[in-house]
Amino acid sequence: MKLLMHMCCAPCSTYPLQLLRSKDIEITGLFYNPNIHPIDEYEMRLNTVKQFSKLVNLDVKYIDDYMEDKWLNYKGLEYDRCRMCYSIRFEKVAKYAFENGYDAFTTTLLVSPYQKHDLIKELCEMYSKKYNILFYYEDFRDGFREGQKIAKELKLYRQKYCGCIISYNERNNK
Ligand code: SF4
Repeated sequence: MKLLMHMCCAPCSTYPLQLLRSKDIEITGLFYNPNIHPIDEYEMRLNTVKQFSKLVNLDVKYIDDYMEDKWLNYKGLEYDRCRMCYSIRFEKVAKYAFENGYDAFTTTLLVSPYQKHDLIKELCEMYSKKYNILFYYEDFRDGFREGQKIAKELKLYRQKYCGCIISYNERNNK
């Protein structure tokens, strides 16, 4: 199976990559996370994915399309920001997978116990139908700690907040 794996960041990619490779799945990564705030943090995460891809010999595609202005002007931001944030990413990933001849897509967001797992699954299934491309679902959360350990061993940068400006402010207000 040719699988396109959306990568939210390098540390969250470690365990899913290890598990999927053990199943002989052919994996290509895709970095598309356009609302990480601030831009320095965005670049840090993108560069860490580049560093990781070299270390583990993973082919990664990049959609380097920073969209913070659009994000900040979105009216429903306070209420359903994660739905919007996931939707923007998964729609792009599903469409990219379909247009570029992959058999399926998945996302490393499924590894994190801090993410809205059921919402991620629901939205991926929705875009799977819309773009007629299989969604490869796996609950990677059992491997979250192991993945963080691998990230530490590889000396990867590990961020302290989810990504958007609201999660950034929440972290700073703690
Ligand atoms: S908290 Fe995380 S998933 Fe939710 S909107 Fe912010 S970056 Fe996206």
